[in-house]
Amino acid sequence: MIIVLKPHTSEENIHRVENLVKKHGLDTHLVQGTGMTIIGCIGDTTLIDPRQFEIDTCVDKVMHVQEPYKLANRAFHPEDSIIDVSGVKIGGEHLGLIAGPCSVESYEQVLEIAQKAKTSGANLLRGGAFKPRTSPYAFQGLGLEGLDILCAVREEVGLPIVTELMSSKYLDVFNEKVDLIQIGARNMQNFDLLKELGRVDRPILLKRGLNATYEEWIMSAEYIMASGNENVILCERGIRTFETFTRNTLDLQCIPVLRSKTHLPIVIDPSHAGGKWWLVEPMAKAAVAAGADGLMIEVHNNPEAALCDGAQSLKPEKYDVLLQQVRQIAEVVGKKF
Ligand code: PEP
Ligand code: MN
Repeated sequence: MIIVLKPHTSEENIHRVENLVKKHGLDTHLVQGTGMTIIGCIGDTTLIDPRQFEIDTCVDKVMHVQEPYKLANRAFHPEDSIIDVSGVKIGGEHLGLIAGPCSVESYEQVLEIAQKAKTSGANLLRGGAFKPRTSPYAFQGLGLEGLDILCAVREEVGLPIVTELMSSKYLDVFNEKVDLIQIGARNMQNFDLLKELGRVDRPILLKRGLNATYEEWIMSAEYIMASGNENVILCERGIRTFETFTRNTLDLQCIPVLRSKTHLPIVIDPSHAGGKWWLVEPMAKAAVAAGADGLMIEVHNNPEAALCDGAQSLKPEKYDVLLQQVRQIAEVVGKKF
């Protein structure tokens, strides 16, 4: 249930209505937008008669929210959320351009890619230090050493870093060192891990599970938000379908659908969706045209020799050409980077 207050309601009256709600054993979540104040009511509202609030002179209207997600719901927060990642904004008119290798392999590798990607216009550096691999015999990532390499490159190049957290064992070190903590597709419904993320101050990039519906995906964001961290960015990375030619199927419809359901920013990862480098450019351009708030793209200086996901990685020169085109599309849809 949400209670929309009349314009110019005083602070005193806002608190008075909040207290009325709390008397019913509910929690409140206050959103004060431009000219609009909304009190979101969290808890079991099924037995509450909205008329008791509607008669209040400060209340404009009371609406029941059907969806099981509240904090992530656009009804609770009508304006687009803009997430600040160590000074880089994602959401609203700001495009987040995340680029870098699938895995951190060496300092020299990440440095070269980061410098080139930044020159092209990337504003965040990615790189996996802990890798979720299908095979236990495949390269598992450099772990903490990889994280230190990312930090050293951030120091040198000046791009905030994005990397995947797989276990809450490393939560504190990630909170200290990582600008945007990625939760991978395979952990999207690791509810214990999601709850732990409420403890960190860093924003979270929540990738869509391999077979997750929109509602399941938003509910996972809700887990993080309900635990105390409201800075969540959603990332579509392709879903499993019957098609085997591509690694996954990129669901670009998620952009307008999520836009209507949630205020959280939406980033598209065409690399893991298609699994082929030549699919990245057209899908990235389509994503920005469809209103995405950002792109996560794997870039590698030597894809043929990459330890992970070389086939879907763009060479820095190709990434550069792509961003020139993305810049033009961004202008048309009212975004910038
Ligand atoms: C990745 O970004 O490197 C990754 C493993 O992605 P996903 O969780 O989407 O497969
Ligand atoms: Mn990858």
